[in-house]
Amino acid sequence: MSTSINIIGCGIIGATIAYELSQSSECQINVYDSQQPNQAATGAALGVLMGIISQKVKGRAWNFRKESITRYQSLIPELEKLTGLNIPYNSQGIVKILPPEEDLTKWEQLVATRTEQEWQLELWNSRKITTKLPQINRQFTGTAVYSPQDLQVDPVALTNALIAAAKKNGVKFHFDRLIESITADNPLSCDISTLNLPIITSDWVIVAAGLGSTSLLAPHAPIEIQPVLGQAYQIRLPKPLGNPDFQPVIISDDVNIVPCGGNDYWVGATVEFPVDGVMVAQPEALAKIKQIAINICPMLATGEIIRTWQGLRPRPNHRPAPVIDRVGTNKRVLVATGHYRNGILLAPATARIISDMLVVV
Ligand SMILES: Cc1cc2nc3c(=O)[nH]c(=O)nc-3n(C[C@H](O)[C@H](O)[C@H](O)COP(=O)(O)OP(=O)(O)OC[C@H]3O[C@@H](n4cnc5c(N)ncnc54)[C@H](O)[C@@H]3O)c2cc1C
Repeated sequence: MSTSINIIGCGIIGATIAYELSQSSECQINVYDSQQPNQAATGAALGVLMGIISQKVKGRAWNFRKESITRYQSLIPELEKLTGLNIPYNSQGIVKILPPEEDLTKWEQLVATRTEQEWQLELWNSRKITTKLPQINRQFTGTAVYSPQDLQVDPVALTNALIAAAKKNGVKFHFDRLIESITADNPLSCDISTLNLPIITSDWVIVAAGLGSTSLLAPHAPIEIQPVLGQAYQIRLPKPLGNPDFQPVIISDDVNIVPCGGNDYWVGATVEFPVDGVMVAQPEALAKIKQIAINICPMLATGEIIRTWQGLRPRPNHRPAPVIDRVGTNKRVLVATGHYRNGILLAPATARIISDMLVVV
């Protein structure tokens, strides 16, 4: 017997859930979004997948990361094959430049733990940094951590490919369709309502609406998702930074320098909280990350900024990110939201958990 599922929100989380569930012929899936794809957090993301290099070593946080990095290794080629679309991604890993005052013991321990867990992580000394990454300012060539198995992926291309692949598997997408409310009174089904249109009923509703999740879920559960603004920019250089054949993502002082093709790099992102309830991008926050990036790679001062953008990360208030749960009196409303700074990274594990939750309790 087939199961009907309505997914609200088509950022990376809703799109990944739709694609992964679409591989079961038993699911009839509809996805609703109030906008066109990639207009919210996902469209602003840098797509850096900090899994193996993260300090998480056990429990849910590590398992989510490990599972997602593993799935990405097959997901990207699978989607490219299925859709014929190109998904730009960088498999040369992530290099994190450590500040001089950093306690190296915790990184040495992490390298040992990852080796035990059969993942690769290396500590580089200054000679290795200078040889591998001549673009780094000598002042910062103390120690670095290199994670060769972490990735970076273009979030917009990835989301578009997920949508195209899910469509091929029969999922129906409804863009520019704002869902106004969810009703979960019937023990066997849920209703969603949208302005001036008949109520839409399904066996399950999955809320993956990022910042829109709070108001949709309010009648069912108090899940407060707060915006945290991020600004980033794309810079074009006269030639690639350092060795053109080795272009990993470079991270220092929380600033990512992300090769994005040709001589272009994305640099970001700021982390800005609302001030007195008002969320406005701060020019000085952007200036600060520009300065940090130039300090690390002085050649960035020679580039031309060709694009600047901002986005709002969905961050749960008073609880850890992300929120993946069952709500509603009938427990048929599932929520997958609040992925804050790691939504692209955690999308595959989120989709698997949601898929496991599609059973009656
Ligand atoms: C500048 C920046 C850089 C980032 N870099 C990274 C990174 O390097 N790596 C990483 O892993 N993460 C990164 N992130 C975080 C990542 O972007 C988010 O965690 C992720 O995109 C969240 O995805 P989502 O699908 O939950 O939300 P969104 O992408 O916000 O999608 C939610 C969707 O729900 C729709 N919606 C909302 N309410 C309704 C409604 N009532 N009815 C219908 N539709 C509705 C919206 O229109 C939207 O399309 C970054 C974020 C920013 C802003």
